[in-house]
Amino acid sequence: MFESLGKKLQDILDNVRQQGRLTEPQVKAAMREIRMALLEADVNFNVAKDFVARVSEKAVGQDVLTSLNAGQQVVKIVHDELIETLGGSAQQPQLKTDSNVWFMVGLQGAGKTTSTGKLAAYYKGKGRRVLLVAADTQRPAAREQLKVLGNQVGVPVLEVHDNESPAVTQQRLKEYLQKDFRDLVIVDTAGRLQIDENLMDQLADLKTALNPTETLLVVDAMTGQEALNVAETFDKRVSLSGLIITKMDGDARGGAALSARSVTGKPIYFAGVSEKITGLEPFYPDRVASRILGMGDVLTLIERAQQAELSAMDPNKKLTEFDLEDLLMQMKNLRKMGPLGDIMKLIPGMSKMLPEGFNVDEKQLKQIEAIIQSMTLRERRDPKVINGQRRKRIAAGSGRTVQEVNRLLKMHDQMKDMMKVMQRMGMGKGGKGMKG
Ligand code: GDP
Repeated sequence: MFESLGKKLQDILDNVRQQGRLTEPQVKAAMREIRMALLEADVNFNVAKDFVARVSEKAVGQDVLTSLNAGQQVVKIVHDELIETLGGSAQQPQLKTDSNVWFMVGLQGAGKTTSTGKLAAYYKGKGRRVLLVAADTQRPAAREQLKVLGNQVGVPVLEVHDNESPAVTQQRLKEYLQKDFRDLVIVDTAGRLQIDENLMDQLADLKTALNPTETLLVVDAMTGQEALNVAETFDKRVSLSGLIITKMDGDARGGAALSARSVTGKPIYFAGVSEKITGLEPFYPDRVASRILGMGDVLTLIERAQQAELSAMDPNKKLTEFDLEDLLMQMKNLRKMGPLGDIMKLIPGMSKMLPEGFNVDEKQLKQIEAIIQSMTLRERRDPKVINGQRRKRIAAGSGRTVQEVNRLLKMHDQMKDMMKVMQRMGMGKGGKGMKG
C-alpha cells in the first residue's frame, strides 16, 4: 500500500529539498506533480485538489520561499497536510467503563467478521470482557467463522438465529449479560454484496433495538473509491461513527484510505494489516504520513517488536558488533514481526532503498541459513576474515554459489549499518537487540 505513491512523492520532494531557495514557479511545478501523483494513486479528485491548494497557500503565503531551507519547509508542510488529510490526531472508538455495544457493518467480503475477531483480541488484551454477537445471518458461514474466531481469542459468542426479530435478539442479549457480565459487546451484522434496501432496513431495525454506542463501517482498501460511495450510503441509513480500513497490506494504490476521512468526515479508527487475528493496528495519521514520505515509522516498529517477543542478542554485546550468528537470529525475529519487506519499510530512509516488491521468503531464508551454517564459528563472528578462498569453500559446502555468499555478506553489512542507526535512535541499549 502507498508504495508507488510514496516513491513518487519522495522523488518530487527530494528534488524540492535540494533547491535551497525556491521560486513560485518551482513550487507550482512541484504541486502539479504532487497532484498528479495523488490522482494516480486513486485519491479522490477534490481531496487531491484541496490538498495541493492548502500546501501551495502555506508554501507561497509565508516567508518560506526566500528562506535558506525553503525545500525542507515545503517537505514539512506536505507532511503536516498529509497528517491533516488522514484525520489529524489518532482517534479511537468511545469506550465507557461498561455497557459498550459496537455495531460492525459493511459489504460482504470487506473483512467485517475478521475485523470483529481482531477487535475482540485487541480489547481482550486491554483487559475488556468482550462478548461477540454473530448476527450475520446473511452469509452462510459467517456465524460459524465468528465462533471459530471467538474460540481462538477466548471470548464467548452469542449466536442470532435465522429470522430472529431484533426485539428477540435484544432480549436474549439482555438475558445473557445478566448471567455473564461483559463490558464490550461487538455485533457482527449481516453483510451485503452491494447496497440492498431491504437488508439496510433490517440493519436499521437491529440498530434501533440494540442501540449501539459505536457504529463501525468496515471498508476494503482494495475496492478504491467505490468503498467511499458505500460509506456514504451506510452513513445515511445507519449513521456511522468511524471506519476500519482493511487489507492495507495489499497492493491497493491507497487512494481510498487517503481520501476516506475527507470524503466521509468519519475518523479511521483501525487499519487491517494482515489476515491474522493480530493484524489490526490503531490508525495513526502521523505515522502513516511519515511512512508514505519515507521517513519511516519507528514507533510501529518498536511496538511490533514488543508484540513478537523476540529473542534478544547477547546482552553483553553492542549492536554495532552484530555478526552473522546474530544475523541469523534477527532474521528469524523479523519474520515473527511480519513480512520482512513490510518491516524494513518502517525504518527511516529504507523504503527508497528497497526494490519494489522486496521480500525475503522462507526458501531464501533456508538458503541463508545453509550458507551461515557452512561457516566456521570464527567466520561467523568475524566476517572480515572471509576471503575469496573461504567464499568458495562456503559456497560449495552449502550448495550455493559464490555470488549468493557475496550477496549475504553484503546484506549483513547493510544490516549492521541499520543497527547503527537504531542504536543512535536509542533502540536496543546495551545491545539488547530490538527487545523493548
Ligand atoms: P466479511 O464478509 O466482511 O465478514 O469478510 P471476512 O471477514 O470473511 O473477510 C473476507 C476476506 O478478507 C477473508 O479472506 C479475510 O481473511 C480477508 N481479510 C480481512 N481483513 C484483512 C486484512 O486486513 N488483510 C488481508 N490481507 N486480508 C484480510
